[in-house]
Amino acid sequence: MSDLALPGAGEASATTAAALSQLPAVDRLLAHPRLAAALAAYGQPLVKRAVQAELAECRDRLRAGGTAPALEVLAAAVEARVRRAVAPRLRAVFNLTGTVIHTNLGRALLADEAIDAVAAAMRGYAALEYDLEAGGRGDRDDVVAGLLRDLTGAEAATVVNNNAAAVLLTLKALAAKREVLISRGELIEIGGAFRMPDVMAAAGCKLVEVGTTNRTHAADFENAFGSRTALVVKAHASNYAITGFTAAVPETELARIAHAHGVPFVIDLGSGALIDLSAYGLPREPLPQDALAAGADVVTFSGDKLLGGPQAGIIVGRADLIARIKRDPLKRALRVSKLTLAALEATLRIYASAHRLQERLPTLALLMRPQADIRAACERTLPAFARFAGPDFAARCEPCASQIGSGALPVERLPSCAVVLAPVAAKGSGRALARLARRLRDLPIPVIGRVQDNALWLDLRCLRDEAALLRQLAMEGE
Ligand SMILES: *Cc1c(COP(=O)(O)O)cnc(C)c1O
Repeated sequence: MSDLALPGAGEASATTAAALSQLPAVDRLLAHPRLAAALAAYGQPLVKRAVQAELAECRDRLRAGGTAPALEVLAAAVEARVRRAVAPRLRAVFNLTGTVIHTNLGRALLADEAIDAVAAAMRGYAALEYDLEAGGRGDRDDVVAGLLRDLTGAEAATVVNNNAAAVLLTLKALAAKREVLISRGELIEIGGAFRMPDVMAAAGCKLVEVGTTNRTHAADFENAFGSRTALVVKAHASNYAITGFTAAVPETELARIAHAHGVPFVIDLGSGALIDLSAYGLPREPLPQDALAAGADVVTFSGDKLLGGPQAGIIVGRADLIARIKRDPLKRALRVSKLTLAALEATLRIYASAHRLQERLPTLALLMRPQADIRAACERTLPAFARFAGPDFAARCEPCASQIGSGALPVERLPSCAVVLAPVAAKGSGRALARLARRLRDLPIPVIGRVQDNALWLDLRCLRDEAALLRQLAMEGE
């Protein structure tokens, strides 16, 4: 048998050798006019690597019995390879999930004023830690501390990398090696491994759970105090709600109890809006100024949730406590960059002006977008989505409910509207939906929706560049 097989194998290898010899040399492919633009933009080393990789892959294909592609085809493949190599990993996407402050998609959209401030801070030197009055070293927190004091009524303020860092630093600075009282109903887990018990452990604090999951009373706190108690903490139930037979101790009461025992009262607000959102027709979220007025000594909240600014953790409160927090060596490790401070300062200035907030803060504008406006966008884009999805899907507009996201107001929903793409055939509908979701994600600007009730829902609340969406749907549509 083997002597029968041998001539065949010999023939195959002869054809392969012939095909391999037809492949162009690296330099010849590199000199193809089609690659001139890529060479000019990205330089010879990167394009050459793409050429070598393409040729290597091509050789493998030929050995497996393929035929040599034309030079033009090879050049096009190299060009595509270069495009993939230089495409940013942090891709722009269309967020059609219906969640406005979406942690996985980058949370708040920043105001133009904040974006301009960041660009300016990147291009040149800035008085980041420089006291221009005295002509010497300053404190980077001073960039925003005054604004934060004015906006929240706090005596002092400091800023760190995010709210998780704010909670960690506050706990460590004020209660390391000692006990922290917190209600059992507030041992929160925020997505992405922020779990209150773990943060307490990381800060070196001993967690003392008070009350029960659904009911905690003032007496429970009174009884939990001991000689090693350093802090009473309240965490805002950002991403869940306990309903039914519940009881929590009001903030004013917690503050009174803490102060009677001579320990500070800290509130982790999580989202922390700086303005009363109910004035804008949105559900009301607790404000840092309310928490301080209720007697909290320190309040922490995020910069990139309802505030609509950059990722940051803001700590406001009593001057002596903020000073202790700032003195902790961990503060140096968690401090923010000039880019964050530039964006945060510009965002806070918008709040301080109290002028045309919804025009200037895009996150607020998205939250406030009227349902009729979103429905109109759905009706305008429905035909393009239907064409893109093809005849295997039925397309319709349907009212739906957007979420604020990032733990803010977990049970509140914003009336919205979606383009719904539902598979026509029941059989294999799961796979068809996954394929359609994949095709939308493969677009130049990936489109991210959500699968629900055996259909793909594209909530258009957060669609801003409708023309760009329509262009790419038309390009890729059938
Ligand atoms: C979101 C949140 C955090 C974490 O804040 P990041 O800014 O994401 O680090 C902590 N606590 C609460 C109550 C939150 O809602």
